[in-house]
Amino acid sequence: MSQLDREFYDRELRNFLPDRIFDAHAHLWHEDHVRPFDGWPKVGGLAEYSHDIHDLHGDREIAGLFIPLPEVNSADPVKAGEFVAEQIKGRPLCRGEYLIRPEDDPEQVRRQVRRLGLHGLKCYHVYSSHKPTWEADIPSYLPEPIVRMAHEEGLVITLHMVKRRAVADESNIHWIGHYCRTYPNMKLILAHSARGFQPAHNWEGLHRLKGLDNLYFDTSANCEAAAHVAIMKIIGHDKLMYGADWFVSHFRGRSLAAADSFIWLYEQTPVWGERHARVDPALVGLEHLRSLKWACWSAGLSDSQVEDIFWNNAAKLLGIKG
Ligand SMILES: [Zn+2]
Repeated sequence: MSQLDREFYDRELRNFLPDRIFDAHAHLWHEDHVRPFDGWPKVGGLAEYSHDIHDLHGDREIAGLFIPLPEVNSADPVKAGEFVAEQIKGRPLCRGEYLIRPEDDPEQVRRQVRRLGLHGLKCYHVYSSHKPTWEADIPSYLPEPIVRMAHEEGLVITLHMVKRRAVADESNIHWIGHYCRTYPNMKLILAHSARGFQPAHNWEGLHRLKGLDNLYFDTSANCEAAAHVAIMKIIGHDKLMYGADWFVSHFRGRSLAAADSFIWLYEQTPVWGERHARVDPALVGLEHLRSLKWACWSAGLSDSQVEDIFWNNAAKLLGIKG
């Protein structure tokens, strides 16, 4: 953390963040069973997470929903799940997810999730046979038999949907609605504030997903306040959960809505200017938290409603006591 990050935290976040923070979207991985994404450390265990997350959460207690890293060619779901389970062992404020691929046998997934004491599933478009995978329909990377099993087991599923227009896309709207209505005991979490890196998609599409009791959202790494506001206003703040998306949180830059889409600006992206006009990019996690602060303020949330987003909603969903 740089001096500028510390100043950002003091200026923007110190007086805003509640006393307790549940991080509903953080990754854990080890290079022995998954090749880390470009620029990620070789090992991301709970110790490394705890060290880094201090930059965003100060000295608050570690609590979160931990998710295996979904790398396309190298991830071993069983070992990745064992790693998550072992890292959060003996931590009653932590929960973990199990990585699934579309070809996985739901019964084997069920056995592993039970054996490891995990609470949810992580799917990802890179495992879809549809090419390009960022245009894949949801069932091609989250097949219905796995959703049925999640319903029977009462699991959450973290879904980073794809397609150009995200939650404004007809196919995404159809499958999210179908899965939520048909499998009410499965809890679906739409990551990155419904992947609304372009908030226009949230304002357009979320109306069609109202009234689904088992539909939730995590804010992970989305730096557009209007994306979170749309969820608060159209769906309700009680379905929204904060998530830092470590290790994404520790790159520098931000997501930026543009046209009918979005771009990611990273430290290396040549947009930050030079010398006296130079902008020093902040940690994504800090930009993200500030966007969530602005969203809470814009939506006129009370302090206790802010606490819901940072703790109570996730605690209720995941059965966290205390
Ligand atoms: Zn993530």
